[in-house]
Amino acid sequence: MSGAFDGLAAIVTGGASGIGAATATALLAAGARVAVLDRSTEGAPEGAVLVTADVTDRASVQQAVDTAGEALGGLDIVVNNAGISAVGTVEQNDDEQWARVLDVNVVGMARVSAAALPWLRRSEHAAIVNLCSIAALNGLPDRALYSASKGAVLALTFAMATDHVADGVRVNAVSPGTVATPFVERMLQGFDDPVAERAALDARQATGRMVTPDEVAQAILYLASPLSASTTGTALEVDGGVTHL
Ligand code: NAD
Repeated sequence: MSGAFDGLAAIVTGGASGIGAATATALLAAGARVAVLDRSTEGAPEGAVLVTADVTDRASVQQAVDTAGEALGGLDIVVNNAGISAVGTVEQNDDEQWARVLDVNVVGMARVSAAALPWLRRSEHAAIVNLCSIAALNGLPDRALYSASKGAVLALTFAMATDHVADGVRVNAVSPGTVATPFVERMLQGFDDPVAERAALDARQATGRMVTPDEVAQAILYLASPLSASTTGTALEVDGGVTHL
């Protein structure tokens, strides 16, 4: 998509690692001006404006989004990617875990979006892309809390798309399957037998391998770009065929 983002400015939350870092890198390569918002910006791609903030802190999010908007001379694109994993059934996750994961994965997305909307309304090509997951709909084992958080992301995406279509802001989601990132590495460590769980994950991919961060990034770029100008309120699966095959 070389040049597809010339003149456009994007903020990527969680852009210092995994899918977010791949997305920030791809946006820069496609001509966008990019800010990475992360609780730790170490690992963010060179060329991005770095803003440190925790998406659970509304005041710091507002400040970081405004700093990014000022540094980039506007904001056209928000990639709501920051997220954390959780392993367990409802008997295993306690209230503290529920509160923390929902706060980061769901409310964090709402906070960043709310802070960015005044900037996005001034754009001719405004787009928000939310990182969902196939866990939202597929009933994955041992992911009750994580799946609930991503189900909420899906509902939030559809609701935001409706609320802001008149503002000229498109809102879509990308639902990755299993992507080889540090996020997955940490999740595997939560299992009794991480090696067996990794083999099971590989075996579940219809394509025979996990999805790469760059493959997810390219789907995010499509939904963020003017190429998808008529697409809003959708979720695009990038899952190696797991959901439908
Ligand atoms: P990752 O752990 O590699 O990166 C997540 C980034 O988010 C990190 O840089 C981290 O510092 C940042 N972050 C976490 N909590 C934050 C907070 N409170 N405030 C600010 N930044 C915060 O993860 P990843 O695998 O690249 O996942 C990115 C997104 O994709 C997540 O929303 C995740 O749920 C989703 N996803 C991942 C997979 C997968 O298999 N990796 C699958 C489906 C969906």
